[in-house]
Amino acid sequence: MKASTSNLRERAEARRKQILEVQGRFPEIAVLDGRILSLLKEAARESLRPSGKLESLRSQLDALYTERAGLIKRCRVEEAYWEIPPACTRCGDEGYLFEAGRYRPCSCREIQFLSRKFRSAQLSDRMRKQGFDNFDLSYYSSTSKIPRSGGKRTPSERANMEKILSASRLFVDDVLAGGCVESLFFTGGCGVGKTHLVSAIANSLVLGGVVPLYAVVADLLADLKSTYGEGESPFTESHLLSRAREVSVLLLDDLGAERYSGWVGEKLFQIINYRYLHEKPTVITSNYDLEQLEEVVGERIVSRIVEMCRPFYFFGPDVRLLKRQARVP
Ligand SMILES: [Zn+2]
Repeated sequence: MKASTSNLRERAEARRKQILEVQGRFPEIAVLDGRILSLLKEAARESLRPSGKLESLRSQLDALYTERAGLIKRCRVEEAYWEIPPACTRCGDEGYLFEAGRYRPCSCREIQFLSRKFRSAQLSDRMRKQGFDNFDLSYYSSTSKIPRSGGKRTPSERANMEKILSASRLFVDDVLAGGCVESLFFTGGCGVGKTHLVSAIANSLVLGGVVPLYAVVADLLADLKSTYGEGESPFTESHLLSRAREVSVLLLDDLGAERYSGWVGEKLFQIINYRYLHEKPTVITSNYDLEQLEEVVGERIVSRIVEMCRPFYFFGPDVRLLKRQARVP
């Protein structure tokens, strides 16, 4: 049976704790573990670009493994970490494999690496499962037309979503290519797929090597409020807020869910204004369209969004509701 990713993560985490505990009690084991890990990394690099050192690295590693086995015996560690079944059965939690004459990182290392990146992007487990490939266009009607003023051609809900989907993919491609990127504004009712697309953008960016920051506006502001007034200066800025301003890609979810006034509103403006001035790629979602949003967040913020973002209007059923109904027999 294949362990699920979160299962693997939990086991690896439990074992890591145990290892740290053993290393804490026996510093000489910690030193050896550290030397083994750095040699494994060197051997993996050497395997990629051989310079004739692989054999020597292998024998050094073998010697260290033998030394560690002896040390473990001498230390008489009762709950020895090597007796706890490793989370990864492929590499025994060493993180590296020796296969076909070369060392390479085990896939579990990549999973751990990525999960750190996803955590850093503030993506929940549920959001991590939402990609472009499982965005289900079949929920959007190919016959019902979306309302559009001005008597222009009116596409169907599905054609409209296809357009938004390709703009989102293009946004990711542009960010990863490091070129000029047009920011996006997603507007539409609850459950029409805005957050799924934002997750898909975030996941694709992480896999492409760019770690965005995802923040629900209310959480960002709660984080701000929690530090407001602390210490001598009321201008102590929270970690999340300074990251929101500087991060290479910001995904700001659910703008307008509450009114922002005073210092909090000012900070929100500063984040958006900073990103506008520095042309930093940003995706903003809201249940309100730009006109309604102006009443809630004010003209200053909305005018920046208008300047920096290409707006997309989501039309369709409440997909969350449909999915829930589909589960009820
Ligand atoms: Zn492994």
